[in-house]
Amino acid sequence: MTAAQWSDGAAGPVLNLFDELTDPGAWQDQALCAEVDGEIFYPEKGGSTREAKRVCRSCEVRTECLEYALEHEERFGIWGGMSERDRRNLRRKRAAGQAAA
Ligand code: SF4
Repeated sequence: MTAAQWSDGAAGPVLNLFDELTDPGAWQDQALCAEVDGEIFYPEKGGSTREAKRVCRSCEVRTECLEYALEHEERFGIWGGMSERDRRNLRRKRAAGQAAA
């Protein structure tokens, strides 16, 4: 299972992306993580995220993936080259930026 195949809905991680996967323009079609071991995108707590982030750096849909994860408040896994903690920090920065504007 890869980050691009997971989602946060009650129906299960894969099924929630079905609609978007059936869209011929869906970014998931270009997800580089679909070509590698998906386990690296869901390390154990405290485990290394380095390998997953390395894959993400070469992925053409990194921005779309990250925005999807932020929009859907994905809590687990590496998305768009960011861990859960990275995404939480980014959300806080964006919220602070909006509050200051
Ligand atoms: S950015 Fe990373 S997690 Fe997202 S689709 Fe690309 S390889 Fe997968």
